[in-house]
Parts: sequence; C-alpha cells; structure tokens
Amino acid sequence: MFESIAHAIPEQTIQYQGVDLCIKRLDLVHPQISGNKFYKLKYNFIEAQKLGFKQVLSFGGAYSNHIAATAFAAHLFGFGSLGIIRGEELQHQARNPTLASAEQFGMQLSFVTRQKYREQKHVDALAQLRQQYPEHYVIPEGGTNALAIRGCREILSSENQQNFDLICCAVGTGGTITGLIEASEEHQHVLGFSALKGNFLCDDVAQLTQKTNWSISDEFCCGGYAKITPELLQFMHDFEQRFAIPLEQVYTAKMLRGIFSMIERGQITDHQRVLVIHTGGLQGRLKGSTEALKSV
Ligand SMILES: *Cc1c(COP(=O)(O)O)cnc(C)c1O
Repeated sequence: MFESIAHAIPEQTIQYQGVDLCIKRLDLVHPQISGNKFYKLKYNFIEAQKLGFKQVLSFGGAYSNHIAATAFAAHLFGFGSLGIIRGEELQHQARNPTLASAEQFGMQLSFVTRQKYREQKHVDALAQLRQQYPEHYVIPEGGTNALAIRGCREILSSENQQNFDLICCAVGTGGTITGLIEASEEHQHVLGFSALKGNFLCDDVAQLTQKTNWSISDEFCCGGYAKITPELLQFMHDFEQRFAIPLEQVYTAKMLRGIFSMIERGQITDHQRVLVIHTGGLQGRLKGSTEALKSV
C-alpha cells in the first residue's frame, strides 16, 4: 500500500566550508505524506488494515505534520479519520491551512484543552481512548510506536550503512532517530538535533534502543518547540537561496543551522562522511521567511 506510492528519494550533496553533506530528500517521498511521516505511518496503516479497522485516530497540534500526513493517508487508503487537536479555543476559529486540508481529506477534528490533551497522550488514557473509540485504530502522538520505528529503519539503505560515518536528523518524539539508530552500523554515529528544549528525549530514546552509537543535542532548538528567532529565519532564507532546498522552521532549519555551526567550530570535519536526513514537513513551512522575519 505505501510502497506503490513512494517516489524515488534523491540524495543531493552540498558543501559547507569544505565539508560534503549528503542530503537525503525524504521531503520528496510523497507530496502529502511527507518525509519521516511516510515511514512512521506505513506499518501502522498496514496493521490497521490487517486488523480490519475502517477508521484511524491520532493527535497533534494545530500545525502538526503528523496530522496532515495521517489525514491524507487515511483518505488515500479508504479509512475514516479522527484528529484530536490541542487547543479548545481553535474550534471556533478559522482553520489554518494544516487543519483545513485535514478536514478536506475527511478528517473529523475534535478540539480539546491543553490539559486534556496532555492527559490523553498517556498510556492509560490511550487504553481508555481505545474503549471510547473501539472502531478506531489509535496512532499515538507524533505517530511514534514500535511499528513507526520499524518503518523508520527503512530510511537507511544498505548503501547508506556503508558510505557514511555520521547520520544527522531532527528529533521531535524520537521515533525517527530510533529507527535510524536501529538500522545503523556500529561504525556509524547517529546525531539528533532536538526541536524541543531539555534532555528528556535522550531518556526516551534510551528506552527504545539498546545501542549506544548516538547522541541528541537541544543546543539548536532556539529555546523550545516551534520557537523561532530572526537568526533562524535568516539562516533558513539564506540556505534556501544558496542550495535551492526548501526547509521549514520547526525541525529541518534548526538541524541544518546546528550542523553548519558544528562545522564552523570544527566539531564536524571533512574526515567524516555525513548523511543528513531531510525529514520533510514542508506543509508547515512559514511562507516568505523574510516577511515572517518582521513579525518576530
Ligand atoms: C515529525 C517531524 C520530526 C520529528 O520526528 P520524530 O519521529 O517525532 O522524532 C522531524 N522532522 C520533521 C519535518 C517532522 O515533521
């Protein structure tokens, strides 16, 4: 079901201060089921179908790439879908493009308070939710579960396992990096750039894998999830102009800014063969980053 809709994934090498960076363009795997979300959803939808579910349920914020991808995948594969969206106040507001397109693809939206949203994400609450919605296959927040990790292992090809020493990716809930770690070879290091502040993601990922050839840094998160600074938007604008590769401000721009800083400091050098995973998410890209610059 997913294999037949995947586009070939180009790998494109750019150079910064003499260091080659091979960018794996998961943003091009599918126009709507973009980037890492394609891999995270793949086995979840296969499982939902196998178990005979006709509907899926998941969670996200108002700009969630996961919600956008889930709504479209459900539409494409003939499932109904329900999205539990953080922020009760959004219910009566005009829909932003993410939620408008989710609705257009048939997703029913249920807006809950931030408090309730936090509660519902927990494991006990998930069990409760399964009781409340017995006809829905429940995909956890950000799509991260064992099946998502299994899908994300497939991001790394056997050539990638041989040809690179360092693998970089952006981190949100940790599902994607866990799949990459699980697929990596011992000689490789997997370096995660957290989009959130704090070290809890290291603990989360350590729960999900036995391997130790990885690290995650929150140094380049710009203060927290979805926070932006004028410097970040300027970086994103300059990067896009120079390399003609689109980024978005929540994950990929922060990661690449981090990689460039580490090259400037000599923490990443031309002795390393570097693979950079572009995890997509461009539906949430701020349009006209120079205009947005004025608003921060
Ligand atoms: C969701 C997302 C991530 C984070 O993936 P996790 O598996 O939650 O860590 C990274 N990049 C982009 C573009 C995303 O949309």
